[in-house]
Amino acid sequence: MLSPFLIDIAYIAAAVLFVFGLKMLSKADTAQRGNQLSSMGMLIALVATLLYGGLDYTYIVAGLVIGGGVGLFAAKTVAMTGMPEMVALFNGTGGIASLLVGWAEFHQTFVETTNSGVVGYSSFTLGSIFLASLIGGLTFTGSIVAWGKLSGKMPGRPMLFPGQQAFNVLLLLVAVGAGIAFSMVGDLADPLMTAKYDIFLVVVATGLLLGILAVIGIGGADMPVVIALLNSYSGLAACATGFIIVNKVLIVSGALVGASGLILTTIMCKAMNRSLSNVLFSGFGSTTSGGPGKKNEGEAKVINAEDAFLVLEAASSVVIVPGYGMAVAQAQHAVRELGDMLEENGCEVKYAIHPVAGRMPGHMNVLLAEANVPYEQLVEPDDVNPIIETVDVCMVIGANDVVNPAAREDDTSPIYGMPIIDVDKARTTFVLKRSLGAGYAGIGNPLFFRDNTRMLLGDAKDSVSTLVAEFKQD
Ligand code: NDP
Repeated sequence: MLSPFLIDIAYIAAAVLFVFGLKMLSKADTAQRGNQLSSMGMLIALVATLLYGGLDYTYIVAGLVIGGGVGLFAAKTVAMTGMPEMVALFNGTGGIASLLVGWAEFHQTFVETTNSGVVGYSSFTLGSIFLASLIGGLTFTGSIVAWGKLSGKMPGRPMLFPGQQAFNVLLLLVAVGAGIAFSMVGDLADPLMTAKYDIFLVVVATGLLLGILAVIGIGGADMPVVIALLNSYSGLAACATGFIIVNKVLIVSGALVGASGLILTTIMCKAMNRSLSNVLFSGFGSTTSGGPGKKNEGEAKVINAEDAFLVLEAASSVVIVPGYGMAVAQAQHAVRELGDMLEENGCEVKYAIHPVAGRMPGHMNVLLAEANVPYEQLVEPDDVNPIIETVDVCMVIGANDVVNPAAREDDTSPIYGMPIIDVDKARTTFVLKRSLGAGYAGIGNPLFFRDNTRMLLGDAKDSVSTLVAEFKQD
């Protein structure tokens, strides 16, 4: 068994590894090592905790085997497109764990206090139990709803009912009021003390209900933002749990998760040029949200792969803009092969990644990294927009909203103001998708009708593979 001093030293080492690991995650070339470093920190923290004196290992081993087994199976089998759903479920389990630890600690103290007649509570611990239970509970149910919407088990559209926001605010007020009453400590005969368990159950119930009601009103495609926020909440709940059981590494790691989740949420909102309150409360994606946008007029010019190949063969610069459709089609390997062939043909190839292309932060980066696209070829909108007029061909592969010029030109459009990649300004733009249908925002795209746009219709993987085949034949 380790002495408390050595356990503290191990916890400090773990916290330092978490911080450095997180820092390294912010760059693609150091991300993998950062992940390993953080995992090492977690291992040290776990081992140090297990070496506390006086633990009953039966349940711990059972928990490790069951939880570790489920986690390993899920991580090995999940498809890249299913990653947001899995993160949602993991956040949910973090939330329910905090709620259950808070409940167990409260229950134990309640029983001891009742049996001994001596008040065993402190307001600080009760306040921490309240926060862990409320935030943990709403993280759990909110994450389950987010998972349901992303996986298509629940309708993706926002489910709104009259007075929903007011009701949510009322619920929150009830929860906070119950939390204040719950945290008060007095004589055992005080009504607040005798009703403590009932008040706690009110906190738990309002937390669970709030999670459901807050998330059902948000559209399925905004779930990645919600998941980042719930991730932050699960960290805050863990942090509160750390205060309950007086575990320093849980406080530190919970605070890190809480802060990084919040930063990620802010980055995503900024990239969509929407405020967090707009994401949470506007019901974006319902029929009533946003303006209608102008009607798109004109005729889209369709091109076949053979003609597209001739244009690409003559191009000296090509910018590939991937979007959600590339993930759906799993076209990333074919896209890289095409990129390689264009380069062999003497063409300069870049991949322009919009921060919210796809359905989760870094979605396109992950897919292209999986296909071994060299990191130096990835550029951001701010790098490519200033030179886009000199680009011979922009190939938009399954992207829609992130290249929609309405965001720049149409102040009645729901996505007006969202930064986009200005592919409409390139010399020629190919749009690879299956139809002229809308993207996530549900609005038409005037890009399809521009003079310099050619639509290469069909599944992105099929279209790109045909182009690759043309290059091979050549
Ligand atoms: P969009 O959802 O706007 O468009 C994707 C397009 O892919 C669709 O129009 C669809 O057209 C096409 N597509 C689907 N399947 C295929 C296929 N098999 N082959 C070819 N094309 C296909 O995606 P974007 O990436 O452009 O934009 C992302 C959107 O998601 C933005 O509005 C963003 O704000 C939002 N969002 C992103 C978040 C993130 O973290 N990344 C978070 C929250 C929101 P068709 O059906 O005609 O084929």
